[in-house]
Amino acid sequence: MTSEQPIPFLTLQPDEAAAAELQEAAREVIESGRYLNGPQTAAFERELAAVAGTVGATGVSNGLDAMRLTLRAWIEMGMLHPSDEALVAANTYIASIMPIVEMGLRPVLVEPSPVTLGIDWHRALEAVTPRTRLLIAVHLYGTPSWDAAIAAEMKSRGILILEDNAQAIGAAVKINDRWQPTGSLGDAAAFSFYPTKNIGALGDAGAVTSSDTELLATVRALANYGSDRRYHNIYQGYNCRLDEIQSAFLRRRLRHLEAITASRNATARLYDSAINNGLVTRPSILKNVRQVWHQYPVLCDRRDELRRHLADRGIGTDIHYAVPPHKQPCYRDVLPGSWPITERLADRLLSLPIAGISAPDAQRVADAVNAF
Ligand SMILES: *Cc1c(COP(=O)(O)O)cnc(C)c1O
Repeated sequence: MTSEQPIPFLTLQPDEAAAAELQEAAREVIESGRYLNGPQTAAFERELAAVAGTVGATGVSNGLDAMRLTLRAWIEMGMLHPSDEALVAANTYIASIMPIVEMGLRPVLVEPSPVTLGIDWHRALEAVTPRTRLLIAVHLYGTPSWDAAIAAEMKSRGILILEDNAQAIGAAVKINDRWQPTGSLGDAAAFSFYPTKNIGALGDAGAVTSSDTELLATVRALANYGSDRRYHNIYQGYNCRLDEIQSAFLRRRLRHLEAITASRNATARLYDSAINNGLVTRPSILKNVRQVWHQYPVLCDRRDELRRHLADRGIGTDIHYAVPPHKQPCYRDVLPGSWPITERLADRLLSLPIAGISAPDAQRVADAVNAF
C-alpha cells in the first residue's frame, strides 16, 4: 500500500560505528584469556553503580535472576521469610512476579495508576497487611514508579522495596529538588540487559544495584555456587554469573546511554505534539520525572484495527502486554481474581516504534496514527 521504506518496530543490528566498537570489545576479551569474574565485569559494575547512584552493583546472568537472587539474599539475611506478602503491579511483565512465587512469598497484585502505568501507590498502601514485607516497584515502559511519601511510609513499616529497573536505566525522579536515578530509590534494584532493553547485551545479562554492600556480597556469593571464596560454599547457590564478554559489550553501550535516552525522548516529544486523533490516548509526559521511553504505549479502544492500519502502511508495532500475568496458564491458580484496570489496559495498549527512530519517520508514524 506504500512505496516508502517500512518502519520496523525495532531493529537490533548495530550501525557500522557501533559494530566496530563491539568487535573491539570482543577482541579485547578474546585475547585476554579471562572470560568470567574478571576486570571487564568489575569495571562494568563500577560504571553501572555510577549511573544508578549506588555504592555498588553486582553483575548477574539476566534481569529475572537479578530479582531471584535479591529475594533469596534477603531470605538468607533474615530480612524476608517464606509466606511474607509482596506487593507488585498487576499489569507488569510476568518476570516481575516469577521470583516472588519461586521464593515462596505471596504475591499481592495491585492495579496500576492510569498515569504512570506503574503500581498505584495509594492502592498499594491500602493493600498493606501485618504480613507485607516487600514491594516491587516496576518502572514500566521507562517511566519511574515512585511516591516518595508512601515509600517512606512503607519503609517505616519495615517493608523492603525492590525496583524492577529492567526498562528504565537512566530514568530519575526529582525528590526535594535533587534528581535521584531509578536504581537508587529502593533498597535494591534489578537491571536487565536483554538485547531489546535501552542498554542491551548481545545475549542475556543483568545486574543488581544497591547501597547495601552486605546484600551485594550475598547476591554475588549466591550467583557463584553460594561461595564467598573459592571452594567454600556458605549457601546452596546457583550459577548466575555475568560473562566478561557481555560486560565488555555493555561498557561500550553504556557510554551511549545519554544519546540513546535523548533520541527516545525526542521521538516521544514529537509523538506527543503530533499525534492528535480522538481515538488514541497518548502516554503522559510527566513533570519532575525523567522518563526514558523504553516503550511509547498509546491506548485505543480499536487497538487491533489501529495495528492493522499501521501495518498496512509499513509501520511495525508491538503489544506490551496482551495477556496479563494472572491470565497466563501458569498462574491461573496462583493468582485467582480479576484486575479490571489491568485487563482493560491489556486490551487497549499498542506500542509505537521508539528505538532509533528518525524525526521524519516519527512524523510518518504520527501522520499514519492521525489518519486512522
Ligand atoms: C525484561 C524484563 C525483565 C526480565 O529481564 P531478563 O533479563 O529478560 O530476565 C523483568 N522485568 C521487566 C519489567 C522486564 O522488562
